[in-house]
Amino acid sequence: MSKNNEDISKDLVHMDIYAIVESTQELHFGNVKDLNINRVELISVPKDGAIIQKPYMSPTKVRGVARRALLWELARLGDKKVMSCGIPATCGVCDLCKLYGALVTTQKGKKPKRSDTETQEAEETETEGSVASRVIQAGGVAIQELSPAIKQRLSSPCYIINGKIGQYDVEEIKKLLKERGIKGDALNRLSQPMPYEKEYVTGLFPIYWHAYYLEKVKGNDSKMSEPQMVAFSFIETLKRIGAGHPKGAEIKEGKISEKPQPLVVVDIYTRPLGKRPIISISELDEKTALEAFAKKALIVNGTNTNDKASKTNHITIKDEGGFFVFERFIGENAEDFLRQLAGGLATSSEMLTPKQ
Ligand SMILES: [Zn+2]
Repeated sequence: MSKNNEDISKDLVHMDIYAIVESTQELHFGNVKDLNINRVELISVPKDGAIIQKPYMSPTKVRGVARRALLWELARLGDKKVMSCGIPATCGVCDLCKLYGALVTTQKGKKPKRSDTETQEAEETETEGSVASRVIQAGGVAIQELSPAIKQRLSSPCYIINGKIGQYDVEEIKKLLKERGIKGDALNRLSQPMPYEKEYVTGLFPIYWHAYYLEKVKGNDSKMSEPQMVAFSFIETLKRIGAGHPKGAEIKEGKISEKPQPLVVVDIYTRPLGKRPIISISELDEKTALEAFAKKALIVNGTNTNDKASKTNHITIKDEGGFFVFERFIGENAEDFLRQLAGGLATSSEMLTPKQ
């Protein structure tokens, strides 16, 4: 291995986030439109020889939200490379595509394809390929078995007519809209109350993110380091989850080491020594699930670390040579760490900021 390659490989770490989140109100996770009802997505889960249905915060949808959150933030920070990126047409070259992956089917600025008879095409050949994503979202199956609630909604027209605010008859509203150039079907749609039905669910959703081979040091022409991008997209995605409105979930509080704190664990590592705090999809009981999460959160390298974790909420492991190979942030400390990392502030991480 060349000197250069050695330097790069030493700077790569894995980062896992485990959390139980709860919807901050009823949410809609769009599935199919059934006549005038917007259905939510459910998942079938085997349980004691039967099949039960649970609400599902689909990781593919979480992923889209996470990607958008980062795209906009990198643009806000003045990242020129993301300006030609987007969703679903990814560019394949920006920091976001490098981390979240891309499918590239056309090359920007390419010249029209030549006919087969012409052979000078080396520089103009269409580039096709893909960049593998290094961030994986999983979980999302609710703990409780819940039937979605169908709610009747009414979209009421509201306009200011002749300086007055309130309900007006349809003809008056139509007159106003016509003056604005609206005609045809749109005129009826925009002037009359429109009833519709929508399904909503609430609940607790265990979610897991696995990000691998992250470059821990920020590149010179990058606005965020890769671990920062993962932390930022995780934190921001929580606020924006759900199709339509309302939106939002938050990390559930529970007891870890007998102390009420957010149920979240973050591992930074080169050696996978932490027990994964994952909840079985067939688990239906909230108390059992929360206890299982808290118990697994404390197990590192096959040992219950409760004594140490209850003081610091930070478990570290070194290799034979004295280098850190694993660290786990638990509960309150994990949430603080994620927010500091997302915000580009200094953290107490041993793996990300090696001491001199
Ligand atoms: Zn891109």
